[in-house]
Amino acid sequence: MNFEEIIGQKKTVSILSRALKNQRIPHALLFQGHEGVGKTATAIALAKSMLCQKSELYCDDCPDCNRVAQLSHPDLILIFPALKTAKVEEVKTIRSSISENPYLKTELWAKPSISIDTIRNLKKTVALTSFENKGRVIIVLDAHAMTTEAANSLLKILEEPPAKVTLILVTSKANQLLSTIVSRCQQLKFDPLTREEIEQALIGRNGIEAEQANVIARMSFGNYRRALELLDEGVKEKQELMIEVLRKVILSDLELMLFVEKMIDQYDVKAIKEMLVLMTVWFRDAMVCESLKNEADFQDRLINVDRLEILKKFTGSFESIDFQKIMEKIEYSIELIDRNVFLNVILFQLVFELKMLLRRKANV
Ligand SMILES: [Zn+2]
Repeated sequence: MNFEEIIGQKKTVSILSRALKNQRIPHALLFQGHEGVGKTATAIALAKSMLCQKSELYCDDCPDCNRVAQLSHPDLILIFPALKTAKVEEVKTIRSSISENPYLKTELWAKPSISIDTIRNLKKTVALTSFENKGRVIIVLDAHAMTTEAANSLLKILEEPPAKVTLILVTSKANQLLSTIVSRCQQLKFDPLTREEIEQALIGRNGIEAEQANVIARMSFGNYRRALELLDEGVKEKQELMIEVLRKVILSDLELMLFVEKMIDQYDVKAIKEMLVLMTVWFRDAMVCESLKNEADFQDRLINVDRLEILKKFTGSFESIDFQKIMEKIEYSIELIDRNVFLNVILFQLVFELKMLLRRKANV
């Protein structure tokens, strides 16, 4: 990963390149922004530029550049949430998946936190001088996953930064970080990617046909990781399932519960998560549908363009719908899936909330 391989984020990359050229990289940086916009990729690219001994930025040719790319450089310390019981193999898997594609995230590190032990070890390491002469780069991924003790311990490093150490904290939930940590870092905000940027990346990197790339880019709302997840075939099938779930929401409680149980038996977590992503897209479209009177405007604004009729029937059969609230509930369920909460708990809660929020018109 190097700066040229970053999708979008032109402003951030240019700020960092300039700081590198002027040798003015702050000792602590906080990369914040939504998931899937390239924060980890940028952190690795920055580490490469800082540790390459051949070029002002990076050469992608020397042992330093290669070892950063493999995440095996002795002066690059990569910290990410991991279970205490994580096996060496699992940690290796996480590492190699990040090195292969920093835009993706393996399921292995969804729930765990960053422990005090990890930060204690880090402190010991930074107390020693670096192996090569260009200093050390520490990247903390999902920095918000630090336990309170870990965060307080890290704060001490920030308060008395060791010489030639650069700390890059990466988070999509900066509000969950200690404010004392945030205030000691130079903050860099990452914007969601544009639809075009994702579309181009899908075409250029993933060899996706233009038409499909366009649809997936629309569905991923600036999140390239989500786009990659959606690439997985079977979008149509999950879309059918999603519409089926919404149809079942009006059933009796018992029937609804049985339906959810059957769905959990039949589909894996990943499929259900995608189904929920498609559901947010569906409600977003339904909202657009309601707000636009002129059908000619639909084509450009809708994502489920091919399902306009079903959409109209859907919105027409319910009393006024609180779209914002529904989309928040679904997004929250997706977040809980990422945190490995039991799927049945998540889904039961969601369908009953939807049942409350979707009131069928009496005469339809
Ligand atoms: Zn190099």
